[in-house]
Amino acid sequence: MTATSVEQAADWTEPGAHPVAPGVHRIPLALPIPTLHAVNVYVIEDDAGPVVVDSGWAMPDSRTALEDALRTLGHTPADVAQFVVTHAHWDHYSQALHLREEFGTRVRIGRGERPSISAYDTRKGLHPRQVDLLRRAGADALAEVIAGTPPTREERKVPHTMPDGWLDDGERIELNARGLDVFETPGHTRGHIVLRDAAAGLLFAGDHILPHISPSIGLETEPEPKPLRSYLDSLRLVRDMPDTLLLPAHGPVTPSTHVRVDELLEHHAERLDAAAAQVRAGHATGFEVAAAMPWTRRKRRLDDLDAFSQMLAVLEIEAHLDVLADRGVLDAHEEGGVRRYAVRA
Ligand SMILES: [Zn+2]
Repeated sequence: MTATSVEQAADWTEPGAHPVAPGVHRIPLALPIPTLHAVNVYVIEDDAGPVVVDSGWAMPDSRTALEDALRTLGHTPADVAQFVVTHAHWDHYSQALHLREEFGTRVRIGRGERPSISAYDTRKGLHPRQVDLLRRAGADALAEVIAGTPPTREERKVPHTMPDGWLDDGERIELNARGLDVFETPGHTRGHIVLRDAAAGLLFAGDHILPHISPSIGLETEPEPKPLRSYLDSLRLVRDMPDTLLLPAHGPVTPSTHVRVDELLEHHAERLDAAAAQVRAGHATGFEVAAAMPWTRRKRRLDDLDAFSQMLAVLEIEAHLDVLADRGVLDAHEEGGVRRYAVRA
């Protein structure tokens, strides 16, 4: 491994351009999402102008922070040759769309994001499919709350249009001094990609592998039917690559993709076991199982979480139960629009 710089965890959100490898800087941009704190944008120097991986949320503060950090590297936003975006979530994608309007910068993203970008329509609410899935998981009251929550002004204004180009699995982005290999890693979103610089030993991991948190699964306008199964497969894909430095979209750069993938696989194995145990104890729906499980590091009850976090929790459990049904551990059947699970006899 040609690791050059592994950072201290505590101060990863400190503004500015932080060198993480030769010709590569990490720029954290503050987010209006308390649990995430900031999103990392990576600037890769290239003769044709910097290539920027992810872009931040299209907000004035984020724009200023990106501009200030680029200036310390001798660049302005107009110099950016292209944005390569790991997935279509706003904190990664929307600022690139904003800057494109102004400078005509090329923006590319994984082809698998197309269905969710196409289906995006704020008039239908921000999480229309999630509301349906909550009902199917037996969480009617929560579904009503989510359906009745209007987008904030910040959310309504976010640009969410098509990119200039789609990136495909196996594609190689050739730069002057390096090549970036594109790998599809569906799960967090269906079209999520990671970028590998094999020669430099770097993985630009987006939200696929985060050092401190377990990424949410399938939170997008048009989720795929089996997002957790895809996610676990995508973790194994990275585990089968040579170990490299982990350059995540949230959190500090850490030395080993393998170490973190192993932790995430272990985490999901534990959650699968815990979910199966709750079904064995008689809880039959995603909502019942989620309500019976402890949440967050502080082991809080489901109804102590805010509605958005409750939604993520119930949908994550539903995804775990679905994987258990896939594996033949549980039986699943639908009754009155609600999916019920039982231990396979
Ligand atoms: Zn994301």
